[in-house]
Amino acid sequence: MPEQPLPSVWQPKRTRQPGLWPLPPLLTALRRGLGGWCPVCGKSHIFNGYLRVVKACENCAAPLGEVRSDDVPPYFTIVIVGHIIIPGMLILEQAETPPIWVHVAIWVPLTLALTLLLLRPVKGATVGLMLSLGMMKDDRA
Ligand SMILES: [Zn+2]
Repeated sequence: MPEQPLPSVWQPKRTRQPGLWPLPPLLTALRRGLGGWCPVCGKSHIFNGYLRVVKACENCAAPLGEVRSDDVPPYFTIVIVGHIIIPGMLILEQAETPPIWVHVAIWVPLTLALTLLLLRPVKGATVGLMLSLGMMKDDRA
């Protein structure tokens, strides 16, 4: 009998139900993480604060706390916000050439608001991405 390849599944350490959980497709994990839901089951919250990831999913016990996203969410957020703010500044400057205080009054609050609004969903999507790719904390190190 030919040996079959191992399925792309993982076994949570603590589970409410025995068995294996299939990893969701990458886009599903990203979408669930973006919405702040567990990338694996989509039924429980991924955060228990503004940016603190729960240790494990309350529904499926997926070890979300072992996914260490570190600086990736702020980096992605900076890239996204920068690609919105900088063209806006340049377009306004080319069109109207307003005084500098107008730029400050528009772009500083907009940058802060966009950053604070995007950081959490970007972190959720990053956790979903890393979980899909199997990028978990390595206890052996
Ligand atoms: Zn879950």
